Amino acid sequence: MIAIAIDGPAGAGKSTVARAAAKQLGYIYVDTGALYRAVGLHMLKKGISVSDEAAVERELPTLEVSLTFCDGEQHVILCGKDVSKEIRTPQVSMAASAVSAMKPVRRFLFDLQKDIAKTNHVIMDGRDIGTVVLPEAQVKIFLTASDEERAGRRYKELLEKGQQVSFEEVLKDLRERDYNDSHRETAPLKPAEDSVLVDTTGFSLEESVQKILDVIRCKLQDK
Ligand code: C5P
Repeated sequence: MIAIAIDGPAGAGKSTVARAAAKQLGYIYVDTGALYRAVGLHMLKKGISVSDEAAVERELPTLEVSLTFCDGEQHVILCGKDVSKEIRTPQVSMAASAVSAMKPVRRFLFDLQKDIAKTNHVIMDGRDIGTVVLPEAQVKIFLTASDEERAGRRYKELLEKGQQVSFEEVLKDLRERDYNDSHRETAPLKPAEDSVLVDTTGFSLEESVQKILDVIRCKLQDK
């Protein structure tokens, strides 16, 4: 099986670029952030504080999360319900960032991610895919862009979905999440030693996809 790991900070364009690249290659695109979002959403719904690790851990056994793929599109199923849309709010982003720092949560989602890559060619995106989940991946990319550019993309996305947010708010949330994600003790966001760094600041979507495909083809050729 071929595994391509794409890690990087929030809003770097990982999901858009990875989805487009996966389509071209005929691989499954796996967005692992959706799993942490589903856990965060569940805690919010149950009124469990996402800063209370013991309470979050106690809740995990009652939680059923899975991913299904329909026409190449990933759906997140939480306790029998498709929550793929519901998880895309700023509140859920922050909750996901908080629960993702907890070891029991990362352990809980680990096998699910590994198992998908055992039976499919995948492009998997997240924060720790090249470092922890799929250290054996044939290609590892660390995708990034400037803070302002990343916040600008997120802002546009949220507006298109009809959500009421300000650019400053999005930038602040994004920096806070970057800080949490890269300073946590467990599986912090950092480039794998053998990853290729791709900075998409100033790139259009098409240029970013092309760049990623070039890196992937070049790396796979070397194998
Ligand atoms: O990628 P996305 O922004 O949807 O991820 C939501 C949150 O889930 C991130 O801020 C990060 O805290 C967490 N996450 C993670 N490890 C991953 C994917 C996401 O910790 N592999």
